[in-house]
Amino acid sequence: LEAKEEFSHKTLAMDVMRPRRSDPPLSVLTQDGMTVEDVETMITDTTYSGFPVVVSHESQRLVGFVLRRDLTISIDNARQRQDGIVSTSRVFFTEYTPPQPPNSPPPLKLRGIMDLSPFTVTDHTAMDIVVDIFRKLGLRQCLITHNGRLLGIITKKDILKHVAQIANRDPDSILFN
Ligand code: ADP
Repeated sequence: LEAKEEFSHKTLAMDVMRPRRSDPPLSVLTQDGMTVEDVETMITDTTYSGFPVVVSHESQRLVGFVLRRDLTISIDNARQRQDGIVSTSRVFFTEYTPPQPPNSPPPLKLRGIMDLSPFTVTDHTAMDIVVDIFRKLGLRQCLITHNGRLLGIITKKDILKHVAQIANRDPDSILFN
């Protein structure tokens, strides 16, 4: 292959990231405006290990990343131990919580369990570079953006599958063992 041709065939982050075109959209949390029940529904309706947090569905600006495990533990804890936390309590990943309307339940503040700087690359990043970053930094997942908007996610398992596809070998035998 000529160098130029090889370049045009290079796999990019956008080719490997989820969701695929035919998939349902990325499951994201918004930094405010969700209730405890909304978050619990997202946890029970999906099996993902984590969820990006965005400013709003409209902006898709990335705020952070929350692990499913930490969400579950924090909500269960708050429901058991924190006074007044109920299904209709508002969940906040923001630094400050606005005063709640009178007679509404207290807010649940979850900024503390959020990774504030999840690793991100743009959708045009070459996959060999992404694979390198996963290896060197020992990432579990990486978020994909375009012009600052969140587009998708690549997990370590996605990387293993991608590498296996290229090498046409068993995913477990490569990369991280
Ligand atoms: P793993 O890749 O180890 O199975 P997950 O269960 O978190 O980890 O992800 C399963 C698949 O779903 C992966 O292909 C991943 O890219 C994708 N994925 C992960 N998190 C989300 C999410 N919040 N919304 C949509 N898809 C996701």
